[in-house]
Amino acid sequence: MGYKKIKLSLNTQLILSLVLIIIFLVLSIVISINNIFVKKFDQYIVDANKAEIVTLIESIESSYKNGTWNKGDIDQIGKLAITKCLFIDLYDKNNNLIWGAKTYNDDLCYQILSDIKDNMITVIPSWSGEYTESNYDLNDNNGDKIGYLKVGSYDSPYYLDAEINFLKDINKVIIIIGILMTIIAIIIGVIIAKKISKSLETLSCMAKKMGHGGYKQKLKYNSNIIEIDNLINSINDLSYKLDEQENLRKRLTTDISHELLTPLTSIQTHLEAMIDGIWEANTERLSSVIEEVIRLTNLVNQLRNLSKFDSDKNKLNLSKVNLANLLKNIIYNNQGNAFEKNINIGFEVEDISVYLDKDKMSQVIVNLLSNAIRYTPSNGNIHIQGYKKGDTIKIHFKDDGIGILEKDLKYIFERFYRVDESRSKNTGGIGVGLTIVKSIVDLHDGSIEVKSKINNGSEFIITLPNLENKVNHL
Ligand code: ADP
Repeated sequence: MGYKKIKLSLNTQLILSLVLIIIFLVLSIVISINNIFVKKFDQYIVDANKAEIVTLIESIESSYKNGTWNKGDIDQIGKLAITKCLFIDLYDKNNNLIWGAKTYNDDLCYQILSDIKDNMITVIPSWSGEYTESNYDLNDNNGDKIGYLKVGSYDSPYYLDAEINFLKDINKVIIIIGILMTIIAIIIGVIIAKKISKSLETLSCMAKKMGHGGYKQKLKYNSNIIEIDNLINSINDLSYKLDEQENLRKRLTTDISHELLTPLTSIQTHLEAMIDGIWEANTERLSSVIEEVIRLTNLVNQLRNLSKFDSDKNKLNLSKVNLANLLKNIIYNNQGNAFEKNINIGFEVEDISVYLDKDKMSQVIVNLLSNAIRYTPSNGNIHIQGYKKGDTIKIHFKDDGIGILEKDLKYIFERFYRVDESRSKNTGGIGVGLTIVKSIVDLHDGSIEVKSKINNGSEFIITLPNLENKVNHL
């Protein structure tokens, strides 16, 4: 039979766990303190009892003067000892009883013994003191034996009334401290639990709002718990990124529909005018219609390329390629536009072999080169560099063209991002060239960085690792 997990709020769970831990800790502390105290107290009682017996012997010895006992003093000493649960029998050296506690008052002795036993059992239920007697020799000042003292008492530490009251007071104080500690700790525990659960509640609220599309909001909540603070920052980042993506998506929808609609409207107007007989269907008009159709086809092709790239983007077909030759060929095949604009292409590439996916990397070079030509005005310069640095290969594409504003730099690798829509429209791009570049470089475990200054030119730097090992493992 499956059992249902009881779900409790984080707040309740935290409070319950904290309270249980606190109660356990306080109880352990109270019990340990009590144990230590009782042990020390017992030791103190044993020492005090021994000292009491030594004093008793000394007092009795000093009551013996000139061969006789001072009966008055001994009577006093014996009665006082009874109150401390020490029962003495004093014998002279001929074994004659001089003073005996039980002879003095047997009932009183019995009463005191049973009272102490009862008291001790209430304080320590396991207390098991047995009545025992010990003999001590008595000597005069010259060291001659004058008799002996029999002292009877319990063999386990026992407490008198004052000591029991003291112990009870101490226990009371420990219990009060324990209760206070528990109350304070529970209050602190509740405050901490509330704090944690409140920040999580706020975060969950924010995530719910984000689920409904409220990306723009930022969580202005500061927590002094590092993990929660990190979570708040991550959620804020996520919200910011989702907002950016949402804007890009909106922009893409408008862009695509706009890009498709412009040639379509133009084709439609041209054809309608020709059907209505307003325009004559001559070669010039039909060519302009064909130009629009070509533009449309280009656009759809680029979109198709992008989706094709998405579908096989995880496959790398690595082979050993001469970098200088690869770059030279691509430049050769694409320099038509550069000639038209009288752009000079500088070439400084080392004769090195690298492992890469030739087709995909060719696409990277074509995209970067055509961008450089596209965004460099007539008579400008492009410089291409390729060299080995440590274990990596560096390829630079530098132009002295129009450059990119700093605010746009972080977006240019985003899909469908174009810096200036009206400017890029003439170029025929749809903002995926650099997205493809970055994805291919990433696939090669490489990186791409861009340095650019508006009106000063741009430089794209690709860093590729040595993929020889990867080829050997294939
Ligand atoms: P597209 O397919 O429209 O060319 P890309 O992804 O290749 O888009 O480039 C994105 C944006 O980066 C473009 O809008 C373009 O303005 C800018 N850009 C790319 N390369 C350069 C460059 N060399 N100089 C200036 N701007 C550039």
